[in-house]
Amino acid sequence: MSRTLETLRFDNTYARLPEAFYAKLNPTPFEQPPYLVSFNPDAAALIDLDPAEAERPEFVGVFSGSLLVPGMEPLAMLYAGHQFGVYVPQLGDGRAILLGEVRNECGEKWDLHLKGAGRTPFSRDGDGRKVLRSAIREYLCGEAMHGLGIPTTRALCVVGSDDKVYRERVETGAMLLRMAPSHVRFGTFEVFYYRRQHEHLKRLADYVIEQHFPHLLKAEDRYARFFQEVVTRTAQLIAQWQAIGFAHGVMNTDNMSILGLTLDYGPFGFMDDYDPGFICNHSDHNGRYAFDRQPYIGLWNLSCLAQALLPLAAKEALKAALDTYEATLNRHYWALMRAKLGLERSRPEDETLIQDLLALMQAGRVDYTICFRTLGDFVTVSPSGKGNRPGADSALRDFFVDRDAVDAWARRYAARLRDEDSEDAERRRRMNRVNPKYVLRNYLAQRAIEQAQQKDFSEIDRLLTVLRDPFTDRPGMESYAAAPPDWGKRLVVSCSS
Ligand code: AMP
Ligand code: MG
Repeated sequence: MSRTLETLRFDNTYARLPEAFYAKLNPTPFEQPPYLVSFNPDAAALIDLDPAEAERPEFVGVFSGSLLVPGMEPLAMLYAGHQFGVYVPQLGDGRAILLGEVRNECGEKWDLHLKGAGRTPFSRDGDGRKVLRSAIREYLCGEAMHGLGIPTTRALCVVGSDDKVYRERVETGAMLLRMAPSHVRFGTFEVFYYRRQHEHLKRLADYVIEQHFPHLLKAEDRYARFFQEVVTRTAQLIAQWQAIGFAHGVMNTDNMSILGLTLDYGPFGFMDDYDPGFICNHSDHNGRYAFDRQPYIGLWNLSCLAQALLPLAAKEALKAALDTYEATLNRHYWALMRAKLGLERSRPEDETLIQDLLALMQAGRVDYTICFRTLGDFVTVSPSGKGNRPGADSALRDFFVDRDAVDAWARRYAARLRDEDSEDAERRRRMNRVNPKYVLRNYLAQRAIEQAQQKDFSEIDRLLTVLRDPFTDRPGMESYAAAPPDWGKRLVVSCSS
């Protein structure tokens, strides 16, 4: 059944928690008239919202903070967090407001979280706003990650306005309607732990378990088991980031979702050329959140959460859960990487085979996404009779400067594939379902942003079309799969948003 804005079914569970958990307040509308920048019907479907609703002026009114619909109970959530390794006692939604929680026909609950909705008691020195550039990046990346099968927040729409917002330069503001089953973060637990408000801590844990881990409700050791599930989800999430070549950029504990979702898209980046030390956040001078440090940082962040749960669970049980992290992440990562190579069985030598390919890619500055996609065309049986040089018919060789090294690797790969009777065409189909053709490269986002700043929003929709289903070749849209042009390689993305 499709619903209108006025008939959305709200079930505001967070607003029922003690007042110490949030500050109730309404969004601050823009001063200049708001306009719809982009609408995502896929996200509308999650809350049973009729996509035709996006055409009503009320839609823009609601998602630019000037109109509330029945059932909304806006609030800013309190949290704290470790930022770049340092505990910051109070953060909270400084520029976002939870308008309410919608329950859909299937019983799933979705937070409607309006980002850029104005100052809140948690804004500190900030203006409570979000600039158009960062709203578009977050909007696109949530859908891109979802298309890739990676757990993430989603987004319903971006609404812009000509209100001036001051960052390194003057920009215009925008609001993003973000959706997730929950916006509780590691830092939501930390704030009550460090304030020694253990009753609130327990209340939060009970709430999260009841809402999102109901199968644990009756367990005596439910807090430890809940933590174990967060460890597993986080390990799996980060394994997915590593396999796809995604760097989050700001893995502070306040940006870590309790549900293992990719949360808070700021200076994130998909790798172009393979570089394990890739730092996507220009403000991250020490590379704390460099690509290859993400697995370790995930563990570090989980240790912070474990610390915060000490009043609720036995130290040994929390420690035991933490100890499973590395193995879970590795198991998941290598399984994903084997699938990227089209290997169906697991062999001890696989890790070396994969690592050697990555080393070749790093040495040759080869594009990560394009290289894996092209690997799908690898042939063990050469139609042109060059069968003694496996892979010779594929474009793969052309990416590498050191042809002898890549040929030697290709011989090992071909032998490994023959060993499991891999059939070229069937393997290609399988590989093309895990090696995306399209990822949200910075330069693609930048092009859409620059056009949007000129009030042409069409590029956002075109990008969404390829990112929604990034594994399917789209005739006429090949350019979206291209490596960045020179200007696109030099783009700088900082925390400022
Ligand atoms: P982020 O880096 O976006 O994860 O934000 C870290 C913290 O700073 C959160 O508490 C945000 O709500 C807050 N924050 C970021 N930008 C602003 C802003 N422009 N105004 C108010 N608070 C902000
Ligand atoms: Mg954040």
